[in-house]
This record gives sequence, C-alpha cells and structure tokens, in this order.
Amino acid sequence: MDKEAPGASVLVLGGGVTGLLAALRLKRAGRAVEVWEASAESGGWARTLAWPGPDGTPGYLERGPQGLLVGRDGPLERLVRDLGLTLRRQEIKGPRWLGKDGRLHPNPASLRGLLAAPGLGPLDKLRLLGEPFIPCRPNTTEDLEAYITRRLGPAFAREILPALVAGVLAAPPDRIGVEALPRLLRMEAAGGLLRGGLAQGPLRTRYPQDGPYPGTGALTRALARHLGCVRTDRAAESLEPAEGGRWRVRTRGFAREVDTVVLAVPAAAASRLLQPVAPRAATALLAIPHADLRVWHSRHAPVRGWEHGVGLLIHPPQGRGVLGLVSMAREDPRAVPGLLQVRTYLGGAWPVDPALDAWPGVHAELRRWLPDLGPAVQVREERAPAAFPILGRGHAARTGRILADLPRGLHWLGSARFGPGLPDLAEGVEAWASSWA
Ligand SMILES: Cc1cc2nc3c(=O)[nH]c(=O)nc-3n(C[C@H](O)[C@H](O)[C@H](O)COP(=O)(O)OP(=O)(O)OC[C@H]3O[C@@H](n4cnc5c(N)ncnc54)[C@H](O)[C@@H]3O)c2cc1C
Repeated sequence: MDKEAPGASVLVLGGGVTGLLAALRLKRAGRAVEVWEASAESGGWARTLAWPGPDGTPGYLERGPQGLLVGRDGPLERLVRDLGLTLRRQEIKGPRWLGKDGRLHPNPASLRGLLAAPGLGPLDKLRLLGEPFIPCRPNTTEDLEAYITRRLGPAFAREILPALVAGVLAAPPDRIGVEALPRLLRMEAAGGLLRGGLAQGPLRTRYPQDGPYPGTGALTRALARHLGCVRTDRAAESLEPAEGGRWRVRTRGFAREVDTVVLAVPAAAASRLLQPVAPRAATALLAIPHADLRVWHSRHAPVRGWEHGVGLLIHPPQGRGVLGLVSMAREDPRAVPGLLQVRTYLGGAWPVDPALDAWPGVHAELRRWLPDLGPAVQVREERAPAAFPILGRGHAARTGRILADLPRGLHWLGSARFGPGLPDLAEGVEAWASSWA
C-alpha cells in the first residue's frame, strides 16, 4: 500500500473542471488536497485538443465548450482573473440562423430575429411584449416548456424554444426542470426574463488564453498547474470505510486513506463507487438520464460573409438528428489560417437518422440548409457520450435525497447536480465550498 501523503485529508476524484474547481477552493481554504484523474490528462470535457491543419500548421479543436458565457462578475469571471488568463472575444459576428421548415430565418435571440420569427403571428408577438407583466413564481418547479409558455406564450414555446434549448442543453424543453437552471430562477426572482435579464446584465461569449495557448482547455490547464496536486492515470476503483471515520480509496496497485472524499466524476462512475457504501444514493445517481452528443469538426474553404463566424440552430424535429453548427471566426487562433473551421453537433436526446452516421451524410444534410458550405478538407469526429445530464422536474428534491443518503465524509459534485454549463458548475462549487467550510 502506498504511503499516504502527509496531511492529505481530502481526495478529489475526477480532474474535470468541477474537480479542479473544488480542489482549488479547498486548497484556498487551507485544506491539504489531492486530485485523482483517471485519464492521462486533466480537464474532462473542458479540453482543447491539438488538431493540426492538412499541411501540419498548428490548429485546435474544443472537446467541449468552444466559448464561456461570462457576465459581469460571477465566479467564472473571478476565477479567470485570479488565474491570470486573458479572455478573448468569441461572439459570432457573422450570420446566425434558425433552420426551420426547410428555410433559414434570422436567429430569434436578436430583436430582428424575434420580429421575423417563423410560426409567430402578430398576436403571438404582442404576447411577447407582455412578458414583464406576467406574475413571477420564484420557487417554480415547472419544466422549461411550461415556464416559457407562461412567460412568453405557447407559440414561442412551441415554434422557437426547442432549437434554442437543443443548442445548449441537448434535450427538449419539456424534459428540463427550471429548478436546474439557476440563472433563469434568479431572473424569475428579479421580475422575469426582461427585468431579471436587465438586472443581471448582459452575457458575452469569450474563451480563455493561457500565454500562447488558446481555448477552454487553457482554463483547466491553468487550474491544474496552480493546484500542483493533480495525479493523472489514477482511476479510483473502489471506496470503503476505514478506521476512525476515514475513507479508503483504491486504485490499481495501492490505496489511500483520507478524511474526506469528493466525487467529481460523471454520475455513472460516482454511482459505481458509492454502490457498496451508499446504495440508495448510487441507484438515484444511475437513474439520472444523460444524452450523448456526436460532434463533427470540419475544415472547409472560406465562405464569403462568414469571416466573423456563423451559427445555425435547427428546429430539432426537422434536422434528422443535426442540432446545429457553429464556426470559428477567421482570426481565431484555434483555427488554421485560410480555412473555415466548423463544428456540427448531432443527437443529444433526439434520434439520429442512420444516413448521418458518417461524415458524407452529415455534410449532405448541412448543405440542405447551407448550400455555400463546400466539401471538407479535414474532418474529425469527437463523440461525447453521456456528456449532458437531463435534469428534469423534481431535480432539487432528487439532489436533496442523494445528498442526505451520503455518509459523513463523502461529497458529490458535478454536472448531474449543478447542470452542464461551466458558469453553473462554478457557481455550484462556490456555494458548496462556502457551506462546507
Ligand atoms: C461537446 C460539448 C459541448 C459543450 N458545450 C458547452 C458550452 O458551450 N458551454 C458550457 O458551459 N458547457 C458546455 N459543455 C458542458 C461542459 O463541458 C461540462 O458540463 C463540464 O466540462 C463537465 O465537467 P465535470 O468536471 O463535471 O465533468 P467531466 O468533464 O466529465 O470530468 C470528470 C472527470 O472525471 C474523470 N473520471 C471518471 N471516472 C473516474 C474515476 N473512477 N477516478 C478518477 N477520475 C475519473 C474523467 O476522466 C473526467 O476527466 C459541453 C460539453 C460537451 C461534451
């Protein structure tokens, strides 16, 4: 058995963004902490992978988020400042569309897009203007479809919402509980979507840069460097009680005893580890549904007018499984100079037409919407199995029951608790750390 590191009383399992953030908070609170990460590199989904161009020119792709939604001064913004990272602009300044009924429409996230939104008649648009006068229910447990129907009317919820939600949460709005969306809840508490949105201030899309290294992975890289206690290639294999209320965690060839274990691994992995010591929590964790996302990265000849990035959201029942695409702007250092870099995502909670199992089918489907998108000079598929937890109605109660079933000294964090958005994870970890400390 390996000797325990002196004073290493907290062991964080999982070196994704959640585990790294939790470890940083604990370290700052004066705890001796170590992180075990199963794979050869930390970062989990939040990693930027090298993807050189056809002639070997350096280039990158994002395994997970291509940008971070940052506001005025949330935990994520403070963290980026604290780590000394630069935030670079990522907003799409080129065309952004909603694909519906076989046609492209301006993205309804803008005022112009809203006025031209397909499927909304004059009365439906008037209904949108009434949103600030709808009474608020700060502790609502509605699903997202019911919530938006109440605030913006049934036509918006039916015609527009599914594409907006699929592009972010990979699931239909009637399967998502508003209680799992902290920003929406805060807006509801502050007077609704318009009033609450104004009070919270605008959100911008940025990506971090760590010295010359650009991308979301810069954040997790910098976190791991600051921590200096991340052990990679260390998959926790079992968890058992040890003497004196401590916990023993085993990995290949050795075990470690600690006072506290923080499980920041995906829900299925947390469930496996917890099965012998907290079977009810383990079963509840396994019951949280997750969606698989298929992501194709491709490089193409540039398209005139798309120099500053393009985005397409497809009304999900009409995309045969393609949910949308987003490109990088010409000046983005992750892209290869002279080529347009696109990422297309499929699946989530929707079935994918078998014709889209390989790139030629995906490209043919994309050209149905975007005839200007030429053949790819490079493609690479990076699947994201079970990457998106689907946190339905009753999420808060379910989470409460899981936490109540955990024995003393065990903690559970991650996207299946806080939601998949990095801002949600950062906020969730901050709240957890302050209540624990
Ligand atoms: C394609 C895609 C696009 C996304 N886009 C966005 C976006 O635009 N905006 C946004 O905010 N979020 C986005 N997300 C979501 C976000 O990336 C994730 O929710 C977040 O990275 C999850 O972090 P995590 O640390 O909780 O989990 P993970 O990243 O899953 O990390 C868990 C870690 O635990 C490790 N592990 C597993 N088992 C063990 C074990 N037994 N022992 C030790 N370690 C173990 C894993 O190797 C992994 O590194 C996207 C995700 C994907 C996949």
